[in-house]
Amino acid sequence: MFACPLCGSTFVASDYLRTVFVDTWSEWAANLVTHYRHAHTDYDAVCQSGFESDAEHAAFKRRVNNGAKREILRGILSSKLDQAEQRRLIAGFAALEHNDEVTVHAITRGLQVQR
Ligand SMILES: [Zn+2]
Repeated sequence: MFACPLCGSTFVASDYLRTVFVDTWSEWAANLVTHYRHAHTDYDAVCQSGFESDAEHAAFKRRVNNGAKREILRGILSSKLDQAEQRRLIAGFAALEHNDEVTVHAITRGLQVQR
């Protein structure tokens, strides 16, 4: 089980993602992106209306995921996790696929926040 720092809900970890990530913090980060996409965006509804091609779907998913990552990073920084946990979870996002330039910047910035 993992918890979402934005809505507080807990969810069952993906068996697939467990095979992809050795590091628990990266696995948590990846599960959060999936959770956010389904629970906090209209991704599912948009997908139901269909795409012209698999490439178009993949590009849409990457765009939604990057927006999700940045929202989650902001959520982590204002969450009740202690600072060490926040840093480890934020660092976990660096291991995810298809981070765009803005997301990479948000991860770097998140790791530099001093409180
Ligand atoms: Zn959530």
